[in-house]
Amino acid sequence: MSNQKLEQLFLKQTAQLKHIEALILEAQNLKQELEQLREQEERFRQIAENVREVFFMISAQTDEILYISPTYEKVWGRSCQSLYENPQSWLSAIHPEDSLRAIATIETQFRTGDEFEEEYRIVRPDGSVRWIWVRAFPIRDDRGEVNRFVGVAEDITKRKEAEEALKKSEEQFRLTFEMAPIGMAITTLDGKFKRVNQALCDSLGYTSQELLQLSFTDISHPEDLELHLSLEKKLAEGKEEDFQIEKRYLAKDNRVVDTLLKVVIVRDSNGKPLHFNNQILDITERKQMERQLLHDALHDALTKLPNRALFMDRLEQELKRAQTQEKYEFAVLFLDLDRFKVVNDSVGHLIGDKLLIKIARRLEECINPTDTVARLGGDEFTILLENIQSIEEATLVAERIYHALALPFHLDGYELFTSASIGIALSSDGYEKPEDILRDADLTMYSAKERGKARYEVFDPSMHELAIKRLQLETDLRRGLERQEFQVYYQPITSLQTGNLSGFEALARWQHPTRGLISPTEFIPIAEETGLIISFGNWLLKEACQQLRHWQVKYNSHPPLKISVNLSGKQLTEQNLVDKIEEILQETNLDGQFLKLEITESILMDNLETATNILLALREKNIQLSIDDFGTGYSSLSYLHRFPVDTLKIDRSFIEQMQSNQGNSAIVKTIVTLAHILNMDVIAEGIENTSQLAQLKLLKCEHGQGYYFSKPLTKEEAEELIASSPQW
Ligand code: C2E
Ligand code: CA
Ligand code: CA
Repeated sequence: MSNQKLEQLFLKQTAQLKHIEALILEAQNLKQELEQLREQEERFRQIAENVREVFFMISAQTDEILYISPTYEKVWGRSCQSLYENPQSWLSAIHPEDSLRAIATIETQFRTGDEFEEEYRIVRPDGSVRWIWVRAFPIRDDRGEVNRFVGVAEDITKRKEAEEALKKSEEQFRLTFEMAPIGMAITTLDGKFKRVNQALCDSLGYTSQELLQLSFTDISHPEDLELHLSLEKKLAEGKEEDFQIEKRYLAKDNRVVDTLLKVVIVRDSNGKPLHFNNQILDITERKQMERQLLHDALHDALTKLPNRALFMDRLEQELKRAQTQEKYEFAVLFLDLDRFKVVNDSVGHLIGDKLLIKIARRLEECINPTDTVARLGGDEFTILLENIQSIEEATLVAERIYHALALPFHLDGYELFTSASIGIALSSDGYEKPEDILRDADLTMYSAKERGKARYEVFDPSMHELAIKRLQLETDLRRGLERQEFQVYYQPITSLQTGNLSGFEALARWQHPTRGLISPTEFIPIAEETGLIISFGNWLLKEACQQLRHWQVKYNSHPPLKISVNLSGKQLTEQNLVDKIEEILQETNLDGQFLKLEITESILMDNLETATNILLALREKNIQLSIDDFGTGYSSLSYLHRFPVDTLKIDRSFIEQMQSNQGNSAIVKTIVTLAHILNMDVIAEGIENTSQLAQLKLLKCEHGQGYYFSKPLTKEEAEELIASSPQW
């Protein structure tokens, strides 16, 4: 072989070798590339199989599924194979309620080749429903034509459920807020209403649109605003999380609405204040009730006037004012109706009540609106005159009241007259306690009563001394009863026709250890007030009955005597009076017919109803009854026949004036005549001379009593008198 040929062959071989080498290199490279691709594919497969998302690739021309990642099986509950075989099953799995919308979107996207995004539900073969979120992007070929779509589908059921739950709870909140029976509002940090509910609108009378234009400061009661604002400030500063207060709002019609307000601050996750939640409970009705109860507690139900509690409270305030303000003065008027009991007893309690109401109104007309008229109870009223310049201002009011009450009252066909006794006390007397000034006004009222009623008096300190003396007497009286310092004196009662002794009136005497003999006119009223009169009266009755029985037995050859015993008003209203008297009669062995009970005309008038029953019961026991001090009362003649009375005792004042005053003589004559018509006999009291005696004899007055015959005697003196009197 030629060298040349060899050389050519060599070259050719070399070239071939090089070519083969190149091929091998290329093949090696290809293999490497292939392995890389495989690796990539494997990585992709792993990702596709393990992620939650489903990846897919669809042919844009044929709808053929080019690729679906295995997660599809988990989400759809169907095999990938079935989808490859039947791409339509993609659409038929869509929930019927969503399918129209979803299919329309898918078709549009296929037509236009746009990318798209859609959420819809699918129904899995087992019937369960899943929410999925699908996104797809077009892939274009070299010519720019869309030939397929790649996309991702994600199971968003959990998120959807969470959204659904949130929506539900928001709806629930909305419902709770809107439908809550109590007012609710969300307010901004600067007080504007951001959201309000119907209950709040109802309470305040605004529509929600109106309220949303307002800030709560616009509709707060001015007095309650500051507190609300300061508490909200504290919330905003983070010192508190909520607060609760009672607060008043003003409704659209200016009505005051009482509420219980609870405010809670709402913050974002960083603690920055967002707004306030307000719960506004309308408590107007409850408050109204509370106010009503308070009002009732401080007012008299009948007249609607302030009652004692309220009066004392106002009095206390006035006293404080007087103590702190120089030259500030006020006055207290204590007013007691005269003989109000007669009204009650004669026309009945119903009309009596109506009269009290009318009197209350007249009293109100007599004072300034700033002053107070109160009803203390019964027929007692008090008046507080604030800021008076002089005593005359107070007496002027008293005079005004006097005139106002002098006019008749017309009630249910009755024409009623009334008057009042008024005591006035002034703050200038330097009081410390409200009850002190009231006590002095009361004391003064009593003094006005004693001096003839239908008048006023101004307190003077001597009255106070008198009262203290009275208090002392009260203490002494109790002790006196224990120590038996009391005695019974006996004043003879004489038959005017024969001049013979017919009996005695038992009169109480008190031998006070230091003050000497004290008149019953001084201590009986105190015994009455304190209730001591009951035990005292029983003691005296027993003492007198015992004494008379003793004399009856001892002087049995003398005509039988009677004993007259005075009965006080308190005793008359005592429950078991009749039993007690009977017990005493039995104990002393005295027959009831020898006991005569004296009851004054005014006591009888003051206790018409109770008295009648008691008197009837006494009459059944044969006990005699006598009306004492007859003629000093009023309008009594018309009532006389109602009572089972044996004797009228003409008051001393008529006898006293008999010879000087013909008029009085005429009165005595009338009384005697009347008594006889009513089958009663008459005792003339206080006969002091022969002239009186002669006239009374002429008038056929049966009995007489008086210094002319004898002063009240001790039991020893009385016994001497009996012993010396003629026998049968
Ligand atoms: P009285 O029942 O009207 O008694 C008559 C009073 O007139 C007695 O006063 C008597 O001493 C007085 N007297 C009698 N004759 C004359 C007279 O000719 N001239 C004058 N100036 N006075 C005469 P006394 O004993 O001071 O009693 C006063 C009142 O005290 C009695 O008035 C009676 O209301 C009451 N009293 C006395 N004792 C008792 C008692 O035991 N129980 C009760 N409840 N009251 C009594
Ligand atoms: Ca008497
Ligand atoms: Ca008398």
